[in-house]
Amino acid sequence: MKSTVNDVCRQLEVLAPRSLAEEWDNVGLMIGKGEWEVGKIMLALDLTSEVAAQALTCGVDMIVTHHPFFFSPLRSFCADDDKIAIAYEMIKNRTAVYSAHTNLDSACGGVSDVLAEKLGLESLRVLKSEKREMYKFVIFVPTSCCEAVLAELRRVGAGRIGDYSDCAYVMEGKGYFRPLAGSSPFIGTNGVLEETEECRIEVLVDKHDLGKTVRAALKAHPYEEPAYDIFVTEKIQSETGLGRVGVLPGTWALEAFALQVKAKLGIDAVKVADAGRPVKKVALCGGSGAGLIFEAVGAGADTLVTGDVKYHEAQQAIALGLNVIDAGHQATELPILPKLQASLEAWAEREGRGLVILRASEKALFAHY
Ligand SMILES: [Zn+2]
Repeated sequence: MKSTVNDVCRQLEVLAPRSLAEEWDNVGLMIGKGEWEVGKIMLALDLTSEVAAQALTCGVDMIVTHHPFFFSPLRSFCADDDKIAIAYEMIKNRTAVYSAHTNLDSACGGVSDVLAEKLGLESLRVLKSEKREMYKFVIFVPTSCCEAVLAELRRVGAGRIGDYSDCAYVMEGKGYFRPLAGSSPFIGTNGVLEETEECRIEVLVDKHDLGKTVRAALKAHPYEEPAYDIFVTEKIQSETGLGRVGVLPGTWALEAFALQVKAKLGIDAVKVADAGRPVKKVALCGGSGAGLIFEAVGAGADTLVTGDVKYHEAQQAIALGLNVIDAGHQATELPILPKLQASLEAWAEREGRGLVILRASEKALFAHY
């Protein structure tokens, strides 16, 4: 079976729903067109010029990065700029670019889960659970057209709840309306109060998908003036969110655990802030997780493993009795790539898509002399 950029995007959004991304983030398809055909995918943390060169050499059709390729708003699109030069190359070669950032951090089985697994943590839970804003879309449809509207809603993926897709609630009732002068009603006569059998269809929709959901439902709706409502709902997610906290088998001296982190992540140095506590309950966050110091203390952790910890943040952690192991931004995120590769390969295999999934070889950003 052939695959398109849209097919791969849909699968990536199953693994890391876009609704899990932080407000300030930019995730999803960055470059390309949904109908472009995809045979080869490359995974990387960043789309640097080295990664772009590798992708072009390997004949890759789509690059999936963790860090958003476009983050700050663009003010121009001139190929003199290195980043735009990469974008030009991608477009010229019909190579799509997709980024899954904080949504992949927070996802179940995402960056932090994989890091926790790598470090041997058990009894894991989310460090910072999140409130997720969802929309309830409700539309009133004449009963004869209910199936057609439901089919359109399914086509655009509305009504996803956890591991269930196509979730909808349909209630039958009566709709009343009086067509006024100038109208050309699907049912009824001008000036006459009409009573008709209608269905109320309800689906839960991600905020990113609200526009396309409304458009799809209206497309299949026969009325001139369809009646619909949009409600905002809030859902506390307990299985997704930033960071994880879990326990180690046994209690470790900080130095021994720091050496273990080095060995497990295959790096030759970590920075350690020692608050004088043995290590048993560990909080972690791949990438930059120093912002989770209070959550780590609140969760009863004795140690936080993350990257990008600044001097004053380490001081604050020590004052709160929390050890910190800074294993670097890159090293704490890299373990997600083989996991993502395996997961996409399993999907391609299951659906007979014959996709090839590669990982870019990314040089360590920092060297230790
Ligand atoms: Zn990062």
